[in-house]
Amino acid sequence: MPTALISDIHGNLDALEVVLADIDARGLDDIVCLGDIIGYGPNPCECLDLIMSRARWSLMGNHDFAVLYEPTSFNTSAESAAFWTRRQLEQEPDDAKRRRRWEYLGNLSIREDEGGHVWVHASPRRPINEYIFPDDVITAPTKINQIFERIERLCFVGHTHVPGVFTDEPDFYPLGDLDNLTYRLGRREKVIINPGSVGQPRDRDARAAYAILHDDRVEFVRLEYDIQAVIDKIKPTGELSDFLGMRLLEGR
Ligand code: ZN
Repeated sequence: MPTALISDIHGNLDALEVVLADIDARGLDDIVCLGDIIGYGPNPCECLDLIMSRARWSLMGNHDFAVLYEPTSFNTSAESAAFWTRRQLEQEPDDAKRRRRWEYLGNLSIREDEGGHVWVHASPRRPINEYIFPDDVITAPTKINQIFERIERLCFVGHTHVPGVFTDEPDFYPLGDLDNLTYRLGRREKVIINPGSVGQPRDRDARAAYAILHDDRVEFVRLEYDIQAVIDKIKPTGELSDFLGMRLLEGR
């Protein structure tokens, strides 16, 4: 059964709904989430509710962590978004709903291991916080090699919001290098796969991103959604920075 890999939703309900509709249209019902359900976007509660009901499990992302505990080393717009998001969760008038969301956030796992594969939000060394950037294969090959030493087979990460595949040469394949947006999995090869971000893509492609894991391949998907609708919800909050809407248009 193929598994839909979603990550970095960041409170962007409009993007999440389009992704879930595509997953449904393909008849997939196994969904796992690599974290950062909330933070940045204007619909944290709705996104949490959808992930709670649709995902088999979700991981703890650095923004989920920041809302739950404390934002550390966040820039100003990310930090104020974390505080705003926390207030939205706290202001829920329905006691049971409010408690369920906080409990879900508090119980997000740091790492999942399935079938010899590793699933983390950021990296196997620092599961919540370490970025594995595409450029690292050139500028920090030792870092990438050390990360690969911790992997038996496949590793799935989010966090950078840049979809693609890392191999242990080390090398990185952005989506533009993949035929039909598909990466064929070799039998023994180690790879790190980033499905990209549902709610805040940063590869200069504004479309929502997710991926589908099949037995023999990973298929990447990009989907248009109504970005203006998100921008229109960010403005009236008065606290979420306009930049958080503008960056969606540019996919950065
Ligand atoms: Zn993120």
